[in-house]
Amino acid sequence: MDSENREVGIKMKTEELKQEHPIIAEMALEHEVTWINPMLAPAAEALEGLSVSAEDIQDAEARLERFAPFIREVFPETAERDGLIESPLKEIPSMKEAMNREGCGIRGRLMLKMDSHLAVAGSVKARGGIYEILKYAESLALAHGMLRPGESYVKFAGPEMKNFLSGYSVHVGSTGNLGLSIGIISAALGFQVNVHMSADAKQWKKDLLRSKGVHVAEYTGDYGKAVREGRALAEADPRSYFVDDENSKDLFLGYAVAAGRLKSQLSAQKIPVDREHPLFVYIPCGVGGAPGGITFGLKQEFGDNVHIFFEEPVQACCMALGMITGLHDRICVQDIGLTGRTEADGLAVGRPSKFVGKTISGMLAGEFTVCDQKLYSHMKMLMDTEGIFIEPSSCAAFEGPSRLFRDRESREFLERKALQERMESAVHIVWATGGSLVPQDVREEYCRKAVSHGAGDR
Ligand SMILES: *Cc1c(COP(=O)(O)O)cnc(C)c1O
Repeated sequence: MDSENREVGIKMKTEELKQEHPIIAEMALEHEVTWINPMLAPAAEALEGLSVSAEDIQDAEARLERFAPFIREVFPETAERDGLIESPLKEIPSMKEAMNREGCGIRGRLMLKMDSHLAVAGSVKARGGIYEILKYAESLALAHGMLRPGESYVKFAGPEMKNFLSGYSVHVGSTGNLGLSIGIISAALGFQVNVHMSADAKQWKKDLLRSKGVHVAEYTGDYGKAVREGRALAEADPRSYFVDDENSKDLFLGYAVAAGRLKSQLSAQKIPVDREHPLFVYIPCGVGGAPGGITFGLKQEFGDNVHIFFEEPVQACCMALGMITGLHDRICVQDIGLTGRTEADGLAVGRPSKFVGKTISGMLAGEFTVCDQKLYSHMKMLMDTEGIFIEPSSCAAFEGPSRLFRDRESREFLERKALQERMESAVHIVWATGGSLVPQDVREEYCRKAVSHGAGDR
């Protein structure tokens, strides 16, 4: 098909899609939507027949434990957790109060999962990205006799191993944070690293990477173009590895490990999760790997007692679009006339992962899409009430508890699932996906934006 015909084909398809799913007409108008997933299934059913399993998550956790002595050595800030990269789970009652003063009507406890403060990369990408590179390094070392099974992985911190790995290169396409996590860990292991970034990637992220010896290539097109270039370059070189954000099972499993760790944190804080104590989790979504992997892990751990909602910018609502239409990666936000441009750089993705969309189609409760300016008002409110800074992308997650009790669609969901009467004993976890590496001057600029958007006028 030539490009003009394809263009006409998409337009016709879009009109049909809007007829079939009125919510898509709303999304095309940049309106915020609340989508309840009609494919949500009982956990046992949703977890059946997938290409990933609970054993795969355990395998990933075990690999992270093997690498802990190396991580501890190279990133001393992880020493207090013995080389495991994990984030705090913190209750944020003042934020809840402030949200309720604005009419959110949140019932139950409000908590923050602070992946914004994960060691090494300062974002959720420290889970999947770092895991995937560690796995690649392990496979190379074992295959070339640089590491014997049972030997301490602290060896990866030594000059011999670094020298060996410097003969290999890693490529990744990124809107920002994935590049940071892959870049930092790959450089620490000795790999040659190339991060292919879209034009909307933040300057400080590029600067930070370059300061660590990472090669940063910039592309004027969208994120998809950066990914394609990275993949092509890596495929041309057998000693090169491409981190495939859209299809990687390793990334997905690295993220999924979060769930078992969260379960331990909840029980350490004596917070039950069961039928009488439902757990709600809100996660910002880009291409889907991070929130999808976490969702898969959470369903393994908590089954039908966890209810997971994604949040996406109105301009980059690709996962919702892919799941609603069932077209997954065969549709992008540009197909319905959106630009895909958003201030939430971590979520600025126009085409979702098919692997993730299909895998979690029976697990996701629904999604809230959000306008950019609200990201800044959530950001400022969290700073003012709890003194915690998280980046605008990750603030999308606050849209979940902000609207759960107010929007008609989500209220009906709560009633249908007999959850309304259990909300006093519910826990809501907002997944803060990034922020601690954001430089002070950029934070101040965000705060000014929050005020100019009117968030300060309370
Ligand atoms: C990457 C990212 C996400 C979403 O992860 P995906 O795997 O792209 O869906 C959310 N928040 C932040 C801050 C991110 O960097």
